[in-house]
Amino acid sequence: MLTDIQIAQGCKMLHIKKIAEKLGIAEEDLEYYGNYKAKLSEGLWDKVKDRKDGRLVLVTAINPTPAGEGKTTTTVGLGQAMSKIGKNAVIALREPSLGPVMGIKGGAAGGGYAQVVPMEDINLHFTGDMHAITAANNLLSAAIDNHLQQGNSLNLDPRQIVWKRCMDMNDRALRNVIVGLGGKMNGMPREDGFNITVASEIMAILCLASDITDLKQRLGRVITGYTFTGQPVTASQLKVDGAMTLLLKDAIKPNLVQTLEGTPAIMHGGPFANIAHGCNSVTATKLALKLADYVITEAGFGADLGAEKFFDIKCRFASLKPDAVVLVATIRALKYNGGIKKENLKEENLPALALGFANAEKHIENLKQFGVPVLVAINHFETDTDAEIQLVRERCTALGVKVAFSDVFLNGGQGGVELAEKLVEVTDSTVSNFAPIYDSELPIKEKIKAIVTKIYGGNAVIYTAAAEKSIVKIEEMGLDKMPVCMAKTQYSLSDNPLLLGRPSGFDVTVREVRISAGAGFIVALTGDIMTMPGLPKVPAAEKIDINENGVITGLF
Ligand code: ADP
Ligand code: MG
Repeated sequence: MLTDIQIAQGCKMLHIKKIAEKLGIAEEDLEYYGNYKAKLSEGLWDKVKDRKDGRLVLVTAINPTPAGEGKTTTTVGLGQAMSKIGKNAVIALREPSLGPVMGIKGGAAGGGYAQVVPMEDINLHFTGDMHAITAANNLLSAAIDNHLQQGNSLNLDPRQIVWKRCMDMNDRALRNVIVGLGGKMNGMPREDGFNITVASEIMAILCLASDITDLKQRLGRVITGYTFTGQPVTASQLKVDGAMTLLLKDAIKPNLVQTLEGTPAIMHGGPFANIAHGCNSVTATKLALKLADYVITEAGFGADLGAEKFFDIKCRFASLKPDAVVLVATIRALKYNGGIKKENLKEENLPALALGFANAEKHIENLKQFGVPVLVAINHFETDTDAEIQLVRERCTALGVKVAFSDVFLNGGQGGVELAEKLVEVTDSTVSNFAPIYDSELPIKEKIKAIVTKIYGGNAVIYTAAAEKSIVKIEEMGLDKMPVCMAKTQYSLSDNPLLLGRPSGFDVTVREVRISAGAGFIVALTGDIMTMPGLPKVPAAEKIDINENGVITGLF
């Protein structure tokens, strides 16, 4: 089989204005970045805002194997398949980060015959949104250090600065740094660190802001650190919220690209799914709903994190009403959840598959708790056997859940026809009664308890002394009435990556609680959560190359 980049290079892309035409977008509302990428103008929203919304479909997954289960691939393939059955659909995805591209995971533009293109541009600098976010983030850092240098009139305690610098690269050596060395004229020495750009609060803000005014207000509310007496110091007090907004004036506009089969895809924003909410931007999703009958979107990680945050954070803030959820399951991840080691997942194993299905069952129950109709997609891998596929179909049917086989990786849109048809059936026949799982007005601990007991299936929540202290502080600042963004391992429903399947009777430990006042959520961290990943022993970058004819290799 051809590699992803070979398949992508073989695609005859349409000029992006032809893709825009499919969505009824006029040329005057496109800002071209070459022939195959465009930003959608601010004026477009005003033209379409009174239209009826299309149907919103979330693609999420069971707890994965470390290789990823194919949410993006399924999202793209399902979008392609919707066109095959004559439905007007648009895909709404996140933008990839360079960290995973050069590191281990690979790109985030789908795979096989279900990809968005131009995949090399999308996976590299795209339309520069990541770099704009990096610049806005680092302007604030520069303003903090300059404030200390110029007399520190706000009494910012250099030991209590929480704002970090950022860069869109996996670089563990930058996790903890000392800045300001070299004497009086070179700044005030202090401890600092770098996040990867997608973990920056600016990314979460960009993705939750409704427009440029809201963006500026949110940026202004960012807490940079605390004074010697414990009072928060915000970006607006440092007076750089306006300049930060200016740096983001183009990044706030959604990007239009296409799939291998010419389906329109809007890619915009890409917050981490741990420290942030893991969904593409609110502006892109809202716009997409006005432009097509079906909007297929993805949230990062498994449904316990991705779908929960999509519902409880994004949909709550943006008043979105999802119409259906596609739960991606792979035979190999089900067997992995049934206790089979990574290296043995290729062999047929019906007992392990049956055991591991308990994981899918819990996610199905969870999604129903949100009141949204569920459809299971079996993302087909070559190694799956007919008996295994049959077993998953039977198990889903026994639960009263529709299930479809999806072969989009190998066959593109044609491989997703069953999935697309069933999706239409589900959305035509079932009404969504979507509601978040908790009331954001509840005390912080009540909100976390609701997530842990109702979604994870856990018992109690344990707080470290540091977490207890932060909760009191957030309450004192009056910022406790915001939704909670859980940072947890994606491999288990619990906070222990080794507890696979459907664990029960476990407690979840919240080690740290942070506030993202600009994004508008409280982050509860369980376990060690990485906000600046490192490179593996053999990074993907070592295989990536471009030759004298511009032919790219190794980009998966
Ligand atoms: P996620 O969005 O869930 O992280 P992706 O769609 O990015 O997952 O897929 C993860 C990796 O697995 C990608 O490299 C993708 O090409 C590959 N992949 C996905 N589905 C299949 C499949 N059915 N067969 C083979 N490889 C697949
Ligand atoms: Mg993905």
